[in-house]
Amino acid sequence: MSSASLASDGAPVPVPPALPHVYLITIDTLRSDHVRCYGYERIETPSLDQLAKDGVRFAEAFTPSPITNSSHASILTGLLPSSHGVSDFGVPLAGAHVTLAELLRKQGYLTAAFIGAVILDSKSLAPGLDRGFDYYDNFPEKPDEKSRWGRVERRGMDVVRRAEGWLDAHQTDPHFVWVHLYDPHDPYEPPPPYDERYKERPYDGEIAYADSALADFLSYLKKQNWYEGALIIVVGDHGEGLGEHGEDTHGIFLYDSTTHVPLILKLPQAKQAGKVVGEQVRTVDILPTVLDLTQTSASPKSDGTSLLTLVAGNEETSRTAFGETDYPLRFGWAPLRSIRQNGYKFIEAPRPELYDLGTDPGETRNRYVPWDATTGKLRKALSEQRGKAPATAERSPGAVSSGTVSELRALGYLDASDARSATDVPEPSLLPDPKDKILVQNLLHTAMMAREGGQTKQARSALEKALGVDGDYPVALRQLGQLEMDSGNYKDALPYLKRLCDLRPNDAGAALDYGRALSLGGDFERARAVLAKSLRQEANQPDARLLLGQMALKAAHYKSAEDEFASTLLLQPANEQAQIGLAKALLGQRKFADARKLLETSTASGTQNAELFELLEQAYRALGRPADANRAQERARSMRQGKTRN
Ligand SMILES: [Zn+2]
Repeated sequence: MSSASLASDGAPVPVPPALPHVYLITIDTLRSDHVRCYGYERIETPSLDQLAKDGVRFAEAFTPSPITNSSHASILTGLLPSSHGVSDFGVPLAGAHVTLAELLRKQGYLTAAFIGAVILDSKSLAPGLDRGFDYYDNFPEKPDEKSRWGRVERRGMDVVRRAEGWLDAHQTDPHFVWVHLYDPHDPYEPPPPYDERYKERPYDGEIAYADSALADFLSYLKKQNWYEGALIIVVGDHGEGLGEHGEDTHGIFLYDSTTHVPLILKLPQAKQAGKVVGEQVRTVDILPTVLDLTQTSASPKSDGTSLLTLVAGNEETSRTAFGETDYPLRFGWAPLRSIRQNGYKFIEAPRPELYDLGTDPGETRNRYVPWDATTGKLRKALSEQRGKAPATAERSPGAVSSGTVSELRALGYLDASDARSATDVPEPSLLPDPKDKILVQNLLHTAMMAREGGQTKQARSALEKALGVDGDYPVALRQLGQLEMDSGNYKDALPYLKRLCDLRPNDAGAALDYGRALSLGGDFERARAVLAKSLRQEANQPDARLLLGQMALKAAHYKSAEDEFASTLLLQPANEQAQIGLAKALLGQRKFADARKLLETSTASGTQNAELFELLEQAYRALGRPADANRAQERARSMRQGKTRN
């Protein structure tokens, strides 16, 4: 349908002279019941309230996913996670799924995105999400910052100022700008004066602060005379558990606490201002709505439907909201699926759940019985929806690279290596029910945030508590082992990592950690045995080869060091540590010509590694080429000086 149907309120609708500017503002981790205009009186959110007055507020809006990447991919594609395939961090959005930015750009829009956390960085954790954006404001690849600000997270005011600066320089009509405010995500550390004002409720303080950043952006739009004609969408990507159902944060469960989000739509010329839509809607409805309002005729496959019929009052149906989360898989627990329809919610889990939301909005009384008619109907609709999802082959295979692991952990999420240790189970329904494990998840989350904040003691205590609940829990064993290694307590790391290897004899990552701890503790013989056994099972392990090479080098076993480093380079030709190791092994065997050849190649690659030039200098001197040696020495010296200057 076209936007002309908005005339159904009887008012004459002038034909808009041009396409409206479109602003999408996503606020991370925002529970709808913690916003003033949604009835929460203990907070002040004047900007959201004003937008609701100028626009349409959807009282019952739901995200299909409680994690940031999947949820944003759904907003930007109008597809459910099982359709777009971004079921986890770092999973690329496949090119087949067209994004809102691509569609608007085709329509003539200039497009830009401003993100508040590295979780949505298209170079690392959210590949493909930048598709269609003329400008996508990623984080610096090598940040100078030691603190989390600027490295993994930006304050809301920083994000909107970056957006405003870009708009100042790009006053093209029409434009589409997406602004992501990450502030309400934990850790809850609102800046002044919100830290004082919401001392006892720092989560609310972060929301109030994010609202103030929104205020800055809206007043900028007004100053530019863009506000009135613009289409503005504000939506939460998911909520926050806040202890409900035992969940402190979000990602594991599909209850309303993390799936019910605020959604406000301010239409051009404030049409339908102040309207509240009570019917159930979904964040996958956003894309079709924007296309509808910008007269974008392309209608890509979507799991949502334009909201304009509801806004105009021509529809009274409650739309079915599906929910999905695979995040429990990272912990070795069963993934969950849900359906929310006609006042009921059914959650498919090892122990299924059914809630009558009319009498039990808090979802506290599970009424599930297998033979119940409502259960049967909802279960059938859920499995029909699952049947529609494309085969996994259509999704991009994705893995988080090791460089992004520390960023992921800094934000409090488990990384892929944790998952590998935990999910070697063929059938998800045989995995533990997350309901039985949520206490452990909270402890792991606490430990990760403590580690990020440099509070080793708190992290250790939380992990020990998790092991107290489940003494053989692989994720906790691995994390404790790594924590002790990072603290230099190699001996203390050993029992955890040995236990992990005993429990998971096929886990190459566990063997590598155990081998590294043994090696750092000086027990080379056992380290070699552990790594050799792991390599017999899985030969392609460059990190294990590298470690074996370094141990051989230390023991002056140059020939076997040469073999290990050469194997590493076969798997990872650009690995500089392996190049250095191989060069040392060759020099140790007086194979100077071979060393020179290797080092001339590796130093020609534009490397900034001074050690490679120093080794090249050694090779030249041994070969009787002092002029070349001096040149290499000079290069090494200027690199080292450059480093200290920076
Ligand atoms: Zn989020």
